Amino acid sequence: MAFIELKNVKKTYDNGQIKVNALQDASFEIQEGELVIILGPSGTGKSTLLNVIGGIDTVTSGSIFIDGEDITKYTEKKLIQYRRNDVGFVFQDYNLLDNLTAYENIQMSIELKKQKGDVLESLKKVGLENRINHYPSQLSGGEKQRVAIARAFIKNPKLLLCDEPTGALDYENSKQIFKLLKEICITEKKTVIIITHNHAISDIANKVIRFNNGKVEEIIINEKTKNIDEIWW
Ligand code: ADP
Repeated sequence: MAFIELKNVKKTYDNGQIKVNALQDASFEIQEGELVIILGPSGTGKSTLLNVIGGIDTVTSGSIFIDGEDITKYTEKKLIQYRRNDVGFVFQDYNLLDNLTAYENIQMSIELKKQKGDVLESLKKVGLENRINHYPSQLSGGEKQRVAIARAFIKNPKLLLCDEPTGALDYENSKQIFKLLKEICITEKKTVIIITHNHAISDIANKVIRFNNGKVEEIIINEKTKNIDEIWW
């Protein structure tokens, strides 16, 4: 069985008056350690997809197997544990706490999990050993996203889910963030899923899932992947 396996996943948002079929019928597989890019127009269910894989949201029907377990069958308590222990999230707007330093933002992530982790080491890995005591307001957008990435992977999650991680960044910072995510995928052997609008970077991924209208439109497998330094846009 694949590390991640979605089978006929449907998600309907229903506010009583309007029903939105955000996921119509999503099925695909992702192997452990793969870097996967999800492409598709706005409003086609990409974030919903990431949220149900990460246990932030629940499905209407279908199954999601992660490492052999169907998380759609989890109790609320088990789902919280799964979210906390197994999933690292990275969002477009960083979601850092403004009144905590870079160090404290990362430390909070492992305190929640009651786990030990080397915060300094994680800051070094993302190239921010000189910004330990900086508050988010004293960091650039790219630096804030580095802190958010360090915060996500210090928990040693099984998978790293990134929703438009470069959506608020300029060209150079976007490149650096994609480079860092690919490095984490390879050196930390993490399964990394990235939603992006940037078609140009598809070649860095092992797998590209083109999404449209809540369905998988196309899956492209890159036998040979490129480094971000070989790509321009
Ligand atoms: P994408 O990430 O591809 O832009 P989303 O997954 O955010 O798409 O949204 C898919 C569809 O579901 C959109 O039409 C959006 O308006 C709708 N949607 C997303 N979240 C909710 C929600 N919590 N309640 C109602 N509708 C939602």
